[in-house]
Amino acid sequence: MDQSLLDKPSHAEIREEVAKLCARFPGEYWRKLDQARGYPTEFVAALTEAGYLAALIPEEYGGAGLPLSAAAAILETIHEAGCNAAACHAQMYIMGTILRHGSAAQKQRYLPKIASGELRLQAFGVTEPTSGTDTTSLRTFARREGDRYIVNGQKVWTSRAEHSDLMLLLARTTPKEQIRSRTEGLSAFIVDMRQALGQGLTIRPIRTMMNHNSTEVFFDNMAVAADNLIGDEGRGFRYILDGMNAERLLIASESIGDAKWFTRRSVDYAKERIVFGRPIGQNQGVQFPIARAYAQMRAAELLVHEGLARFEAGLHCGEQANMAKMLGAEAAWAAAEACVQTHGGFGFAEEYDVERKFREARLYQVAPISTNLVLSYVAEHVLGLPRSY
Ligand SMILES: Cc1cc2nc3c(=O)[nH]c(=O)nc-3n(C[C@H](O)[C@H](O)[C@H](O)COP(=O)(O)OP(=O)(O)OC[C@H]3O[C@@H](n4cnc5c(N)ncnc54)[C@H](O)[C@@H]3O)c2cc1C
Repeated sequence: MDQSLLDKPSHAEIREEVAKLCARFPGEYWRKLDQARGYPTEFVAALTEAGYLAALIPEEYGGAGLPLSAAAAILETIHEAGCNAAACHAQMYIMGTILRHGSAAQKQRYLPKIASGELRLQAFGVTEPTSGTDTTSLRTFARREGDRYIVNGQKVWTSRAEHSDLMLLLARTTPKEQIRSRTEGLSAFIVDMRQALGQGLTIRPIRTMMNHNSTEVFFDNMAVAADNLIGDEGRGFRYILDGMNAERLLIASESIGDAKWFTRRSVDYAKERIVFGRPIGQNQGVQFPIARAYAQMRAAELLVHEGLARFEAGLHCGEQANMAKMLGAEAAWAAAEACVQTHGGFGFAEEYDVERKFREARLYQVAPISTNLVLSYVAEHVLGLPRSY
């Protein structure tokens, strides 16, 4: 590839400012939320106020109009600082579906309010209990009735639904038996959850091993105005796919941030903790897992940079985005594992934050796409092996 593409600015100023903001939300803040399964309202408000969640919204709609690498720098810094962007990261990439495929009226109606924070677009309703990873088998059905759609079905793992005003919903509009290709017949909608709640929309929280504000969502004859259909009926799956490389590169950046946080904690502790009359970090048995995880992180980081450079140059980046997401998540996990081991018993104590970050970092090998599905993408689309499913 063109090496000049790799010479991207590192957004040093943005990183510095985001780090300052994050310093106002130390481990104690996240620990309390974790115990109460609370939502980091103040943190999200601070990011919104500073304009970071509107980084990718074009200036004409009130956003900062920054490139994807800037959004990646924001999310990486949040995680490197020990905070967690999972409470709000989706707003950055869900918005892209409206921006790329929404009508002029939809963009005008929603984007400026999302940019200002007046409207929260944090919920993304794709996964269903019966279809799981096999998205094109989803069953939630939106039936057209005059100037509205009537939606029936269920979503699961819809993060942040209780803390969002809008949901980007993927639903079937043509029965599976009537479609020619499995990617057809699904449509994307903007659901105003403020209006729908109690009017056919029910949200139930799911308790998980980390504080993620996950929910399951039920639709029982929920009405959605036909005006809220994004683009053409039946093409929703394509619209969602269009945003996936950006999503994967952003999540990979969070994992890189996590890996850096764990590694810094490991190094600091290994230098300070004296056992047998010397710092534990003097032992190669302690050093090597930390060093190995660091090397893994650096390799994944280079792939993130390559993916971002290609994305911004308008080149295909599915290979880089998928592999960066997988390797980033694995590097974060290796760094997390080394960090717990380095801390010995204290790795399990809440006050060190290591066990909380350990739980949080595990998710990214499963969501938003699991490792097997990344490998399957690489096998089929990069290496040309036969499709396996
Ligand atoms: C905390 C959390 C938050 C989430 N947030 C959202 C959200 O906001 N919106 C949303 O729509 N979804 C969300 N998800 C869903 C997430 O994207 C899915 O969990 C993920 O895609 C995997 O789907 P599944 O859980 O149904 O697993 P399944 O599809 O049941 O898969 C289970 C396992 O089998 C493997 N597997 C399945 N098929 C194959 C195959 N053909 N070859 C090899 N291996 C295979 C998978 O890799 C996985 O390891 C979230 C999930 C979690 C846990």
